[in-house]
Amino acid sequence: MRIAVVSDVHANLAALEAVLRHAQATGPIDGVWCLGDTVGYGPQPVECVARLRELGATLVAGNHDRAATGKMGVEDFNADAATAALWTRDHLDTEAIAFLDGLPEVARPSDDFTLVHGTLRWPLWEYLYSYEAAQAHLERQETPFSFVGHTHVPTLVAEGAEYEHGCEMYYLDDGQSVPLPDGRKIVLNPGGVGQPRDGDPRAAYAVYDTEARTVTVYRVEYDIAAIQALMEAAGLPRRLIDRLTVGR
Ligand code: ZN
Repeated sequence: MRIAVVSDVHANLAALEAVLRHAQATGPIDGVWCLGDTVGYGPQPVECVARLRELGATLVAGNHDRAATGKMGVEDFNADAATAALWTRDHLDTEAIAFLDGLPEVARPSDDFTLVHGTLRWPLWEYLYSYEAAQAHLERQETPFSFVGHTHVPTLVAEGAEYEHGCEMYYLDDGQSVPLPDGRKIVLNPGGVGQPRDGDPRAAYAVYDTEARTVTVYRVEYDIAAIQALMEAAGLPRRLIDRLTVGR
């Protein structure tokens, strides 16, 4: 089976469609896993939720999903994120709200993988950036492997007693394939589909090949200008529009 793993779509339908096309171009896709923040920041929240539902994706909730439905306040968001969250709240329909509200914080779609937006310590909010956060996450990880999102940066964390911090972190480049190890826990972040933050504006996602036992990260060009035009028409904050060009 080949599973497309997407995260932080952030209501960017052009980017979501581009990664789905890219995934399907190399063979059939048997499933989609989504690591949260399907909405927020971007102009097409309803469309992105509908597309993932149509694909029968397994989704977990992100902080932006919770803020968009009102289940969580926007006090902890920066000004632009709060503006976008409130815009999203005004533009979701009742069906999308009910669906997003019903999403779990943690999912286990197979015996091998756990899915969570942030970390298993603080599923909605914690960025898996530091060794301390990585360790706290790995301690709580009951499956050999996990996928996280939230940082919008393609990353591999490998557990190992030989490492100074008990684990090591690596950034993942376009086309880089990670073999799933035996006897060592790993955490993978496929990067952000709808708002990359590693200086590469191309959409990021991963393909998990269950037979080859590999996870491969890809970067895909999409029509950034088109999504920016929609954001402009929607009156979304300028900084959120501009950052898509630079991938920050
Ligand atoms: Zn996000």
